[in-house]
Amino acid sequence: MIEPLESGHPQDHEDAEIGEARAVVDAAVREAAAAAQHWRHLASFDRGRVLMSIARRIVADLDDLVALERAETGKPAPLAAAEIIGAAEYFEFYASLVHLPIGAVLDVRPDLHVYTVREPFGVVGVITPWNLPLNQAARACAPALAAGNVVVVKPAETTTGTTVALARLAVEEGLPPGVLNVVLGPGSTVGSAIVEHPLVRKVAFTGSVLVGQKIGRIAAERILPLTLELGGKSANIVFADADLDFAATEAVRAFTGKAGQICSSGTRLLVERNIHDEFVAKVVEAARRQRPGHELGPMITDQQFETVQHYFRVATDDGAVAATGGTVALEPGMAEQRFVEPTVYTGVTSDMRIAREEVFGPVLAVLPFETEDEAVAIANDSDYGLVGGVFTADISRAFRVARAIEAGQVYVNSWSTQSVQMPFGGHKASGYGREKGIEALAHYSQMKSISVYTPSS
Ligand code: NAP
Ligand code: MG
Repeated sequence: MIEPLESGHPQDHEDAEIGEARAVVDAAVREAAAAAQHWRHLASFDRGRVLMSIARRIVADLDDLVALERAETGKPAPLAAAEIIGAAEYFEFYASLVHLPIGAVLDVRPDLHVYTVREPFGVVGVITPWNLPLNQAARACAPALAAGNVVVVKPAETTTGTTVALARLAVEEGLPPGVLNVVLGPGSTVGSAIVEHPLVRKVAFTGSVLVGQKIGRIAAERILPLTLELGGKSANIVFADADLDFAATEAVRAFTGKAGQICSSGTRLLVERNIHDEFVAKVVEAARRQRPGHELGPMITDQQFETVQHYFRVATDDGAVAATGGTVALEPGMAEQRFVEPTVYTGVTSDMRIAREEVFGPVLAVLPFETEDEAVAIANDSDYGLVGGVFTADISRAFRVARAIEAGQVYVNSWSTQSVQMPFGGHKASGYGREKGIEALAHYSQMKSISVYTPSS
């Protein structure tokens, strides 16, 4: 027999919170489920038009959305605007894909008509982090909706504004009520209630490995399909024959873009040893040109600001040397605004934590290499495998290295040429499934094969 708990016991409080979270999620999931058949069976032109209207509306409301997102993230306005335009592009792109064939006819036997169809899952749960709030929500919601699903999305508690705004404007643009729902609250209660809900048939999660693992354990029990977009420690390999000035500015963009608060940051720089000092000097110079509040945003949360400073201590304790940075920004007032100086560590070896763990800040670890094989080996000596880069004038080598890097996407002679058309996702601990591109539609739908027996009369 279970002893009744004393009232006021912390466990009571926790149970009450979990119960409340489950109720909130249950209401949203039921709203969604009730709208599922209507949305799924709407003519593709009608579904596409609504998604296109949402795209246009995001652009029309850009200033308001930027203001909302800036209030929660402190991002410089042009950077926030670019991400939000990206959010509109997700809706525009997937609006244009609703007319794609959803299956094929297969030649199996003369007396069988065999065909395949892609069907939506039904209710899709989307859980997003705080680093690119609207952009990340749109990245999952747009293809999920285009594939005929209904969605329950939970933004990070710290950055809810633009996701709520998205759901509102979507309804105003003709999305039937219930098709896109937002639930708010902590991940540990509301987030996990989404993953546990029996009517949720697919979850797309963007965030940390730790939480990805927790979700994965629940999903294993439920046989729930997941898309996991997790972290990275991506390597950018620079050979001596590259255009070094351009490679240096790209290497800096790679680790300072979004102030390093992006999973696809290039946070390991692998440099051919004979140009190491010369190249690091160029990188340091370019890094020092990143002006806080202009090219460089702040750390979005206090916790992230603390985390970066923690890694400064870790790197120094392990023997890495800061060629620039390694402290919080020195200018008065900058630390209060959570700005961090772009930081370049040299003297790094692959076993150091600064070379292995994701910092999620503008912090670069530089590692020298002698040969192409060694460069690839260092690049792949990572639990992660999200993106990678290679800078070289040797086109054959570029192709070889691009294939050899264990990562979901590789950039050659420029960093982070990402766009909505390009499938995005991880190898190894960076996750599985794919967002973006036509491929995402395959992850927001399930295949059915139908065979019809057609004997001759
Ligand atoms: P996080 O702690 O994993 O949180 C991500 C989301 O999951 C938030 O909405 C969070 O809610 C929720 N959550 C937390 N615990 C949960 C649980 N037990 N069950 C369900 N949901 C839960 O990640 P973060 O610290 O916010 O973001 C930084 C991480 O995200 C980095 O590791 C980064 O690499 C990764 N990331 C990856 C990508 C990519 O595309 N691969 C993009 C962006 C970020 P609350 O925060 O509201 O509690
Ligand atoms: Mg977190």
